[in-house]
Amino acid sequence: MGSTGSIGTQALEVVASDPEHYDVVALGAGGRSPERLAAQAEAFRPAAIAVADPGAAADVARRVPWCEVRGGPEALASVSADADIVVNGVVGFAGLPVTLAALSAGRRLALANKESLISAGPLVAKVRATPGAEIIPVDSEHCAVHQCLRAGSGSASGSASGSVADRVARIVLTASGGPFRGRSRAELEAVTIDDALAHPTWAMGPKITIDSSTLMNKGLEVIEAHELFGASHGIGYDQIEVVVHPQSIVHSMVEFGDGATIAQLSRPDMRLPVAYALAYPQRATRAFGGIDWADARHLDFEPPDREAFPCLGLAYDAGREGGTAPAWLNAANEVAVAAFLAGEISWLAIPDVLKAVLDRHDGATADSAEAVIAVDRRARAAARTVIDRKLTNA
Ligand code: MG
Repeated sequence: MGSTGSIGTQALEVVASDPEHYDVVALGAGGRSPERLAAQAEAFRPAAIAVADPGAAADVARRVPWCEVRGGPEALASVSADADIVVNGVVGFAGLPVTLAALSAGRRLALANKESLISAGPLVAKVRATPGAEIIPVDSEHCAVHQCLRAGSGSASGSASGSVADRVARIVLTASGGPFRGRSRAELEAVTIDDALAHPTWAMGPKITIDSSTLMNKGLEVIEAHELFGASHGIGYDQIEVVVHPQSIVHSMVEFGDGATIAQLSRPDMRLPVAYALAYPQRATRAFGGIDWADARHLDFEPPDREAFPCLGLAYDAGREGGTAPAWLNAANEVAVAAFLAGEISWLAIPDVLKAVLDRHDGATADSAEAVIAVDRRARAAARTVIDRKLTNA
């Protein structure tokens, strides 16, 4: 799902690299690229295509008359019970219905859509308990943590023995630092949209690239790590740390109770986490991201600059508050990033907007998809109000 996006196209490359193991049963996309979606369908011959935008669905149906095409907001979720493995590469909050449909059908969810986990943590935890359901993270850091946990204690789903060495002392998430690493707050005043879109190590979609430039991506990943591994390994926010590692070779680390740290290394290549999630518990048969040690002789680590990049601290605040605070922050961030990309607000205004919106968090709980959607809508409206007020005052 999200097949025409960055994760989706790379997932299809992984599938194409190993045709004897994988078969695409359905493709899903928002509908911004009907031509590309139709071309993917011709190449992979799925039984069904889901397109969120009804107009685009009709367009795709004309292009591939041999294929069943479902259109509308429920379409992606409706095909997500058909596969053994659902790759959720949908961008943003729109990925939540796919996550819920795949898990409640007892499928493996290869999850790249971190927002669904962040916005609906308690809800996702509930459907994750469905027999057969499991989440294998397709986020380089969390895929790394998943691998480190397996390596350190023999299991990524929690330790049964409870010995000191099996106990997880810390999860250390690495951050590239984005295009503005090393700049002070003053030096960040005049950054442009193009500056923020120029990521030094990862080629990704525009939303996540902006999130990388503000460190909000890392902040959301801290919450994501807490949702994925917190309950099973007894890890609180104090035990999830972020370290800046500009080479993006070490994808994350786990320190165990005996002081040993296990790390996962590879070149930045999202096909590796996708292939890992598809092949788990085996290892993928095709290699992606292998390291040439002649090129990777320097691995640097430094603490993040929380003053220049306040989004990271805001994410910790929302995570610690819990409940719907992460959902609130995530929704506000989607609106703020869209406003930045539309040229409405400056890059430095993104955290200001988020702080103001987080202060308006109403503390509501959300134990259903409808309630989560309502929280998301209120947070978006609050963000819009804050931005409009900013524009009026400017
Ligand atoms: Mg990541």
